[in-house]
Order: sequence, then C-alpha cells, then structure tokens
Amino acid sequence: MNVLVLGAGQLARMMALAGAPLNLTISAYDVRSGNVVHPVTLEVLGRGLEHGIANADVITAEFEHIAPDVLRLCQDSGKFYPGEEAILTGGDRRKEKALLDKAGVNNARYQVIENRADFDNAIARIGLPMILKSALDGYDGKGQWRLKSADQADDVWQDIEAFLTASHQADRQCVIAEEFVRFDREVSLIGARGQDGNLAIYPLTENIHTDGILSVSVSANENAALQAQAESMFDAVASALDYIGVLAIEFFDVNGTLMVNEIAPRVHNSGHWTQQGADVCQFENHLRAVCGLPLGSAKRVRPTAMVNIIGEVTVPTSIMPLAHVHWYDKAPRPGRKIGHINVCASSQSELGEHLKALSTHLSVDEFPALLEAAEKLNQEA
Ligand code: AMP
Repeated sequence: MNVLVLGAGQLARMMALAGAPLNLTISAYDVRSGNVVHPVTLEVLGRGLEHGIANADVITAEFEHIAPDVLRLCQDSGKFYPGEEAILTGGDRRKEKALLDKAGVNNARYQVIENRADFDNAIARIGLPMILKSALDGYDGKGQWRLKSADQADDVWQDIEAFLTASHQADRQCVIAEEFVRFDREVSLIGARGQDGNLAIYPLTENIHTDGILSVSVSANENAALQAQAESMFDAVASALDYIGVLAIEFFDVNGTLMVNEIAPRVHNSGHWTQQGADVCQFENHLRAVCGLPLGSAKRVRPTAMVNIIGEVTVPTSIMPLAHVHWYDKAPRPGRKIGHINVCASSQSELGEHLKALSTHLSVDEFPALLEAAEKLNQEA
C-alpha cells in the first residue's frame, strides 16, 4: 500500500520506518518545495501534489498548519485520513475550542478576540491573569501573550493589534483569550481510532516543557482514575470528529481533574516513548488506522521516558548503553528538534536512576528538564 504524508519532517520519517515491516511504502509531500520526497532520504520522487495524490492509496498528515487548498484537494480524493475537518480543527484554536465545547469536555474558559472591544470584554469576563493565543500558526508556545495585570493591557493590546495587522492570513487570523490555569502538571494522552471505530489508547504520559517546548515526557505509573478521565474525553473528542488515525490530547492536571489544553490530529512528540515502551508504537498504529488495518496493542511494556534533543547539541556515544537514540537527520538550529532519546527501565525508580545516569553524560543547559524528571520519578516511586 502507498501512503502519502503531508509534511516531510521527522514524523513522516518515523512513520516510514514503522511502516516498512508492514510493506507500507511511505512518501512525503514537502509543502514548502511542492515536491514528493522519500521521507528518510529526502530524495525527490516527483513533483506536485496531484502526482502524489494519484500514486497514493491513502493520504495522511504529520502537521496541521497546511494550506486550505492542499487539504481540499486531498479531501476530494476520498483517500484522506483523519481528513480535512480534523486537520483544520487542530490548526485553528477557534475551531478547536468549539469542538471541545461540542464534545462536552472540560477546557479553560475563553473568548474569541477580533478587536479592542472583545479584548476589554475578555478581561472583564475571564479575569486576570489571562493568556492570549493566536488562533492560527501557534505551536510550541509561539504566538502567545500573557496579561498579568490591568496596567499592561494597553501594551499587550498594541502587540496583538500589530500581530493581527501583519498576519499573512489576516482574513482568518484572530486571538483566543483563555483563563490562566494554575495546573499541577501537564499530561497527554495518545490514542488511535480505527476505521471500524475501535480504539487503542496508550497510558498517560507526563510532559515537562522548557520555554514552551517539550523537553522530557515520562510514561510511568499513572493512576487508573486519571487514565479513565482522559480516555472518556478522548472518546468524546474522537467521536465528535469521526476521527480515524492517531489523535493526541494535551491536558492540564489540576489537583486530579483534567482540563484539555489542546489537541493534535496526528502522531505527537509526547508519544515517541511508545517506540520502545509500548507493544505497538504510535507510528505503526497511526498507519494501521489510516490503512484500514486492525489496530495493535497500546499496552505499556515498561516504564519509558523520552528526552528531546533540541538545538545545536551533540550527544556523546557513551549514552548508548542507557538509551535508544533517534536522530532526525536535520541540520541543528537553535530551538529545533533534531532527535530524541528513549530511556527504558523495569520499574519507576529504576527509570529515575537511568535518567540520573544519563544526565551525567549531558549538559544541564542543553537538557534542562532531565534531572527534574529523574527527581520526580524517585519521589513518586
Ligand atoms: P500551548 O501552545 O497552548 O500548548 O501552550 C504552551 C504552554 O503554555 C503550555 O504547555 C502551558 O505550559 C502554557 N499554557 C497554555 N495555556 C495555558 C493556560 N490557559 N493557563 C496556563 N498556562 C497555559
């Protein structure tokens, strides 16, 4: 079977690696160059989306910021999963919030802001502190403003107004104001929904961010009540979208009650631990779902942590006895994800020990959340 992935980054690459044993041939559409490329070697296989669509049995996506005309062409082919509506929803916070409300899942109070009157209204209704996020093109904490006190309102509004005016999608761009949630921690749930409606849902994973970018994700022991809460919200959101494929949901954990922060209609960075820690990894389960194959088990087989390699960083080979290293073959740039490291163990406390041992080989500045994750695991064990 031939699968075309919209996007030619590391997620398409890892899909290709996971799909090979199933005889699934993956190609990737690079939205910037307009070429269809091999997702691992990036060799150009052909030019143009039409060519890619014609050669594909199935089309999917590895990111959500895709031009509407590209999505439309794929949708019209009848081969696209999870489909246009799911990708548009993941890429537009306004649509995402409406979906969360429709699915009846707990999420932060919000207001759509298009002008100063909406902004003032939001301050009065939601209260301060407040967080403001661009509806389109927001990721890894980009396109966000924090309004802590009323005396900052004019300055923050000036920034937002300039941003809206400069937006190349001015007709569709707006800002969502959200209540500031005082969460204890951030967790996410990754799951697949098959064409038969069956679900394969992984255990929750805890995420530690640095400067808005995921640093470390730990899948160890989570309590059953929290998992049940997350799964019921997953079911509601996936059903509301009639979703097919892997869907990721990021939550705030507020004293044992989960609140959805955002969804991603694709395989997700906080699911990379499944490559070594789960029976069948997220990449394979995504392919199984979109290709109409039965889903595989999402059981965690051992506590596992994922550590992102970000920026202009080198990693010594001395970590290899402790780690599974996944490089993306990308040129290092500040803030860019260029690889990740999966660390496994037979128990939660051993995972903490392994992360601590890993940290002795790596720079604290480059891997700032590693020790924090190790200490948390040891405290909880
Ligand atoms: P996002 O791009 O929506 O995932 O936001 C990036 C990060 O900002 C999140 O991982 C949170 O740490 C923080 N954040 C986002 N929304 C809120 C909120 N409503 N209240 C508090 N912190 C938030």
